[in-house]
Amino acid sequence: MNKIDVEKIYGENVFDDRKMKEYLDDETYKTLHKTIDEGLELDLTTADKIADAMKKWAVEKGATHYTHWFQPLTGFTAEKQDSFISAPKKDGSISMEFSGKALVKGEPDASSFPSGGLRATFEARGYTAWDCTSPAFIREDALGGILCIPTVFCSYTGEALDQKTPLLRSMELINKEAIRLLRNLGNTTSKRVTPYVGAEQEYFLIDRQTYKKRKDLVYTGRTLFGVMPPKGQELDDHYYGNIKERVGAFMRDVDDNLWRLGIPAKTQHNEVAPGQHELAPIYTQCNMAVDQNQVIMQTLKSVAHRHGLKCLLSEKPFAGVNGSGKHNNWSLVTDDKINLIDPGKNPHENIQFLLILSCVIAAVDKHADLLRESAANIGNDTRLGSDEAPPNIISVFIGTELEDIIDQIIQTKTATHSGSKEKLDTGVTFMPNVSKDVTDRNRTSPFAFTGNKFEFRMLGSMDSIAPPNIVLNTIVAESFSEASDIIEKANDKDATINEIIHNNFKNHKRVIFNGNGYSKEWEEEAKRRGLPNIANMLDSLEALENDDNIELFEKFGVFSKSEIISRADIQRELYAKLTNIEARVMIDVAGKHIIPAVVRYTRELADSVNSLKKAKVDYRVQKELLENVSALLADTKKAWDELSKVTDKGGSLNIEDKQTAFYYRDIVRPAMKELRNPIDGLEMIVDKSIWPMPSYGDLLFDS
Ligand code: ADP
Ligand code: MG
Repeated sequence: MNKIDVEKIYGENVFDDRKMKEYLDDETYKTLHKTIDEGLELDLTTADKIADAMKKWAVEKGATHYTHWFQPLTGFTAEKQDSFISAPKKDGSISMEFSGKALVKGEPDASSFPSGGLRATFEARGYTAWDCTSPAFIREDALGGILCIPTVFCSYTGEALDQKTPLLRSMELINKEAIRLLRNLGNTTSKRVTPYVGAEQEYFLIDRQTYKKRKDLVYTGRTLFGVMPPKGQELDDHYYGNIKERVGAFMRDVDDNLWRLGIPAKTQHNEVAPGQHELAPIYTQCNMAVDQNQVIMQTLKSVAHRHGLKCLLSEKPFAGVNGSGKHNNWSLVTDDKINLIDPGKNPHENIQFLLILSCVIAAVDKHADLLRESAANIGNDTRLGSDEAPPNIISVFIGTELEDIIDQIIQTKTATHSGSKEKLDTGVTFMPNVSKDVTDRNRTSPFAFTGNKFEFRMLGSMDSIAPPNIVLNTIVAESFSEASDIIEKANDKDATINEIIHNNFKNHKRVIFNGNGYSKEWEEEAKRRGLPNIANMLDSLEALENDDNIELFEKFGVFSKSEIISRADIQRELYAKLTNIEARVMIDVAGKHIIPAVVRYTRELADSVNSLKKAKVDYRVQKELLENVSALLADTKKAWDELSKVTDKGGSLNIEDKQTAFYYRDIVRPAMKELRNPIDGLEMIVDKSIWPMPSYGDLLFDS
């Protein structure tokens, strides 16, 4: 085993503060820091110096290219690479060059990125601009070393075509409103408030050779057919031992790569499902966490490739097996290291904490629809609301101790004590063992207070974590702003603050739920409380088109109306396109592989029946099997015809028409299910040696 000197390698591929100090002159270093810390504009002379220093460092590390690395609305990252080489000189030589202009601004060909009509109305050009608050890094891959410069991506007129721009706007916003609120609470020392985020990432690892035999996985990232073998859920330790070796080497390699990139990969463990794992880095500033999560997903994929494995990031790669998600841990921290989400020892006396808690709860209740939408994607539709991931209803888990304090405040306007013992004695809590109960139960909650942060647990494993953080920052900023508006007008500030806390808790208590979020009773209870239960991605998109929400985003400068509406359009287009691909893959695999294989099997069975009949031997088992297989085959063919028909029609619809996505959801998806059902039935009874692709058992255990 190669020894890794973690302290030495950590961050060696990032242009972090250490390198800035080393490669920049004092004045440039200070100017850059001012830009980063205070959000000031960078002049071109300084940019030139920074670009030159970055280039020097990158070339020393073997990099040959640079790229403006950005996050368009596809959910992935994009880049266009340029080498550092200058035009050849007279003597035929070149030099490695990188100008300030090339550092701060790029002009990728934007026409192939989704814009939801935004660019069409202006100019078909997009610009990338350096986000100097997220450090540049060198990515090493088969292409060699590439200096990646995190950028935002905008249209000619400055409309956001990416995830980063609105995220940075929302971070500015929450900084402004949080500082304003802190001043109103008497804090005169904190200068900046930053959302901090730690994202836990789940994923599956399977053997690459086995993966390649599954066209559905290769083309769509998830299986479109397949059932767990009856014995499947039990681990086969023998086989699992082999993959464990490879997984161990893989994880070590992932950590090594991430550490070099300055990403503090911290925890890794096996997850609930066979073949499923989780990785979490130590939390950092929101925009960096967003970038890092993209790099983590990319690293998981490329390192898996090197180890003969395939990393699956989709939300539900295997039906009947727990899917993957992401937990977005979020808190607000001041530049002087006060975590505003920390209740301290005596939360009932901590007015600042109670005000902030009440504001977050109010925000989550008021804008549950936006939060729900921010976690929606096509894969999450197959995961949320069943017994493995949070329900489609947004609620907040706060634990019995805080709920007790909130109850005191609602009833008497003040809280006199912290601690949950009283509640236990009155028998109001559901279970006797609070500490165990709390951790166990809160796993079912979509939005949980977990000690000194909120954990939003609804996110899909494949998605960017930008949208949920944009929403969180914005809605909490609105809540803060409303509180400040009231406090600033008040004569008796203390009484007013208490009043706001009381009102927030009283008016929004309905969103607090500490019980089992997976239960049927909660669904009914939530309905009685009037909480929205938004069942799927397309329905959730309405949140982006509702006037109140548009007004909210416009008021606080996070999205313009056209930006937000374009996002809904893009999502719907994506939904239609992805469903179309899945349906076509099903048609192809079923038509060219499964149906022919089953036809061969029926012939074998028929031959066997005939031979047995001739030999005057009991042939009832073979006959019954043949009848069952034939019946399922007939169902399959019928469903195949229907899916082919509706998918063809889908392909002829206008993709920009809003109704097209609904057609795919309401007509094509059910037809996909109709085809899958008989095929999964066949897989259970057809001879395994005939089945044309590896089974779930092969994929999850046998690698
Ligand atoms: P879990 O019990 O859900 O596995 P962990 O304690 O392992 O949670 O933390 C999960 C993530 O939360 C990690 O990325 C961690 O760095 C992050 N985290 C911890 N404290 C905070 C905080 N104050 N703000 C934001 N994220 C945090
Ligand atoms: Mg978690």
